[in-house]
Amino acid sequence: MGKFPIADAFISKIVICKKCKSRNKSSVERCRKCGYKFLRPKRKDIRVKK
Ligand SMILES: [Zn+2]
Repeated sequence: MGKFPIADAFISKIVICKKCKSRNKSSVERCRKCGYKFLRPKRKDIRVKK
């Protein structure tokens, strides 16, 4: 959990295409851009720039 629960909830709904790196909704089975089947969930622990 980060500082922003809303952002966490939003991020957790995003998956990244392993092929073209585009963001997709976690509900989709394939990348909407290239149709690639393997998607990974976006990392929740995003590195904070100092
Ligand atoms: Zn893709």
